[in-house]
This record gives sequence, structure tokens and C-alpha cells, in this order.
Amino acid sequence: MRRFPLLALLLFSLFFSNITARVQAQSLRALKHEIATLCSPTMAGRGYVAKGAERAARHIARRFREMGLQPLAADSSYFQPYTFPVVSFPDSVLVSIKDDDLDPGVDFLVDAASSSYRAHRQRVQRVNVGRYKDSSQWITQKRYFNEHKIYLLEGTDSLCKLLHIRPRQLAAQLPKSCYIIPIKGKMTWTVATHTIPATVLYIQDSVLPKRLRRMNVGIHSEWLPAFKTANVVGMIRGTAVPDSFIALTAHYDHLGRMGWDATFPGASDNASGTATLLQLAQYFAQHPQRYSLLFMAFSGEEAGLLGSTFFVEHPLVPLANIRFLLNIDIMGNAEEGITVVNATSFPKEFALLDTLNKKESQLPQIRSRSQAPISDHFPFSKVNVPAFFIYSNGGQGYYHDVFDKPATLKLTNVDKVMDLVKRFISALQ
Ligand SMILES: [Zn+2]
Repeated sequence: MRRFPLLALLLFSLFFSNITARVQAQSLRALKHEIATLCSPTMAGRGYVAKGAERAARHIARRFREMGLQPLAADSSYFQPYTFPVVSFPDSVLVSIKDDDLDPGVDFLVDAASSSYRAHRQRVQRVNVGRYKDSSQWITQKRYFNEHKIYLLEGTDSLCKLLHIRPRQLAAQLPKSCYIIPIKGKMTWTVATHTIPATVLYIQDSVLPKRLRRMNVGIHSEWLPAFKTANVVGMIRGTAVPDSFIALTAHYDHLGRMGWDATFPGASDNASGTATLLQLAQYFAQHPQRYSLLFMAFSGEEAGLLGSTFFVEHPLVPLANIRFLLNIDIMGNAEEGITVVNATSFPKEFALLDTLNKKESQLPQIRSRSQAPISDHFPFSKVNVPAFFIYSNGGQGYYHDVFDKPATLKLTNVDKVMDLVKRFISALQ
């Protein structure tokens, strides 16, 4: 008889730990599914080719509607439209040496601001730009560059050091023609909101033959002066103080596609954060909180925090009524926990996060970092909206490249991060 309560307790706890494990497995499956959708070929890297970003925005709005989130825009939609200028590479991005096509995104990248260039069996001239002793020498030399040759620039590292600039800034100074800048190691692409006169190819040193006399280049870049895009915003009304808000944000855009073949899926950056945002929206739709909750999926982040900046300049709720904002960007693997950017500006909220984690959520570590203008929390910080930016620690190092694919995300501890965010939001006074 005396053993019975103990046995019952054991069975009871087993039953519930089983449920928790099942719920966790379910939410992980849902997260994976969402990431796979956002990284699917139809979304074309959520950028500027094949309506990639637009398709992602529509998908997020559809999910908001399914969950019953309240729209905030004047036309009762979830979209906050705006435009920005951008360079896109919709089709031909061809580089071939001795009739072998190089693999775009793997063997080479086109500078994101490049102009178009097309030449068949064009002569290649090596130029050692590393020999310049001062920048005036470099400026005189630039006059020799003309459109009828492709220039393979050697020694760009020392020239960049001399001029105190990065390779991309060097590319911006080049006159109209085609240039090769050899690269060793990781290639990182980006988005440009301006064009440069030159066409600059960053090619892996290992695929450049010692003797390179001629090559074929066909780069088609398209200047879009007013690319149409939208932030996607939904709300869950608060039960006690509905006119005050806690905002959860994540950017859904990525780099898109470079030509026909090189897609940048952006699984970690930031399909992972967008999927996390959607999972949290789903939970809170069933569990409304004291404050109203804003869910904001921004576009234009990779082009320079443009979506969040637009929202701050055209807010759909009074910015002064935002009690706190949590931005999630890169949530692919929290094996080593998370880092909180801007933690030092809000020690009380950081302490709350840390205490909740130690007591309940059990992430291995929460690192505190000072302010940095590196994601969508920053435009809000500039207008004094209290904000944290959370990213996960433990990724594979794929960033802004063609290898940032769903299969490389472990998603370890991401359920714990979501648990922590839920507890933090409920506890926030
Ligand atoms: Zn990002």
C-alpha cells in the first residue's frame, strides 16, 4: 500500500516527461519544415530574382492568417510595402576558362555592385597592383585599364592595406572593364544598393591556371532603382495592457540568386530566425499575454537594415509604447547557447533572461555583448526602443554562401531558446 503513491508518482512523471519530449519533437519537426519551406527553390534565396523575397513575404502572411494574428496596416493586410534600389543578377553569370565553366558561388563570386560585361575569348593581362608605394601611383595606373582586356589583379591585399580599404571598396574605385581578384578561402557574398562601373570577379586562386591568356565572361547585372518589397507585421492583442507592446522580429530576406545556378538559401541567416518567429507566433496565438505582441518579419536587412529602418520611420504602432523588442537573427544551432547583443544597455532585463535560463530553460550559456549595428534591432535602439538581438552560438560557419543550407543546421537547443523567450515575455513587467 505504501509503495503505491510512489509508483503512481513515477508513472505520472514518466507520462509527463514523455509528453514534453513529444511536444519538443513536434516543435522541432515544425521548425525544420518551416526552414525547408523558406529555403525551397521557389523562394530563390528570398532575394531579388524570381520573386524570391515576395514569395517568402506571402508565405509568412499566410501563416499569420492561419494563426489568427491581427493585421496592422491601413489596408487591413499584414504587408507594409516600401521600395529600395538594388542590383540583381537574374540570368547569365558565366565565367569560363579554357572552355570549362567555373561553378558560380563555389569557384567565383561576382562583386554584388558589378555592371554587366560580355566578352568571348578576351585577352587577360596580369597586373601586380601590390607594388604601389602610395595611392597617387595607383590613381595614375588606373588610366591604363581599358574595356578591351580582362585584368587579373595580383597583390590586392597589399594595395588594400596601403589604401586602408577592403577589396569591395577597391572594386568600387576601378574604371569600367572586367577585373579578377584572386581569393583564397571562404567566399562571402552580399547585396548592393548601388552600382560600380567595373565588373569584378572574385575567383578562387586554386582554379586560376598559372598561364591564363584568354577567357569568356558573360555577366548580366540588372539595376532595379525601386525594388518593391514589404515587411510582414501581425499582432496578438494583450489581455491587460493592450496598448503596450512586446515586439518579436526577424528578417526573412537573404541574398537571393546569383545568375541561373547559384542560390543562397540562407538557412541559418535567417530562415532559422524566421521559422523561430513563426513558431513563437503560433504558441502565443494560443497563449495571449498581458502586453500586445507584435510579430515583425522584415525584408531588406541584408541590403542595410532597410526594412526595420522603414518601420521605425513609418511605425504601425507608437514606438514609445514598445516595452521591449527581441530580434532573432541566426538561430541554426544553439549548442553553445546564445549571445545577447545590447545586453549591457539593459542589465535588468539581461539578469531576468539569465535567471530564467538557469532556473528553467537550461541553455548552456548566455553571453552578454554590448551594442552592435549588425541586425534589425539597431534602428529601434537608435530611437530608444529597448531592444536585444539574440543569435545562437555553435553554427557550422556557413554564412552568406551557397552552403548555408537546411541540412547543415543542427537546431540543437533551439527549443530551449524558444522556451526562454516565452518565459521572458511572460515575466516582463
Ligand atoms: Zn541575418
